[in-house]
Amino acid sequence: MIRAFCLLFAVFAAQPAMGEDRAPASMSCTGPLLQGGFLICALSADAGVYQLETSDGKQAKLSFDHPAFLPFSRNSPLDITIQAKGLSRHWQPTIEAQQFTLQAGNWAIERIDGLPPGKVTPRTLEQQQKVEADWKKKQTAWAHRTAASWYAGGFTKPVEVSRTSGVYGSQRILNGKPKNPHLGMDFAAPKGTDILAPAAAEVVLAEPDMYFEGGLLVLDHGAGVMSVMLHMSKLDVKLGDWVGQGQKVGEVGMTGRATGPHLHWGIKVRGTYINPKLALEYTAP
Ligand SMILES: [Zn+2]
Repeated sequence: MIRAFCLLFAVFAAQPAMGEDRAPASMSCTGPLLQGGFLICALSADAGVYQLETSDGKQAKLSFDHPAFLPFSRNSPLDITIQAKGLSRHWQPTIEAQQFTLQAGNWAIERIDGLPPGKVTPRTLEQQQKVEADWKKKQTAWAHRTAASWYAGGFTKPVEVSRTSGVYGSQRILNGKPKNPHLGMDFAAPKGTDILAPAAAEVVLAEPDMYFEGGLLVLDHGAGVMSVMLHMSKLDVKLGDWVGQGQKVGEVGMTGRATGPHLHWGIKVRGTYINPKLALEYTAP
């Protein structure tokens, strides 16, 4: 009987503090402070769930188990304030607002000529309908959410041996027409070169033949942090698969709007494309 009592006591003592007894917590945010960069914010102790809100309108959930990934767009304002609002029903420690100043991007101008005219602006009704159908598939993928944070260990190169043939942020002029800036990184490599998952992920879109993108994969690394991979000649995974970091997901190609075999890799975080090069360079503290 005494032993049973002691066991019960031990279980109660191991419960996390509740209500007013919650331990104080602090938030630390690290990451590249540049346009196209990001911050990963973590809590020092279990203090419930917070909603982070940035002065440029970004939101992310933060708890002790799940850090928050806050992206900065190519055109992000340079002064950013992050506020943390407690979402738990119990009392939570107040986390003070934090301010950051970003470095402005220095974007290149890239001219690409010799693209088939229909791949710059779709011409026929059939082409326009295909683009519309592709767009709907992508919207469904972008809306996918999982509470995981598989990105937290960092990213690795998706094509091991390659030449960087396009950088994030450059203003693109395609066949002489100014187009949207390039919001990914291009890895030139021979057709058939292995493409590896840059972080563990769930496959949320796998399409072999998109109009502009050609063979396309969207990988969800958790909490809406997604890789998008374009122009692939072969896909080795399908919708709903889970892939580990470094696992082969397909092969380099030049399908869709491409002038040579390469992988276009973008990282989209709940609607905002960040610079993949900065993600590759980041190491968690
Ligand atoms: Zn590209």
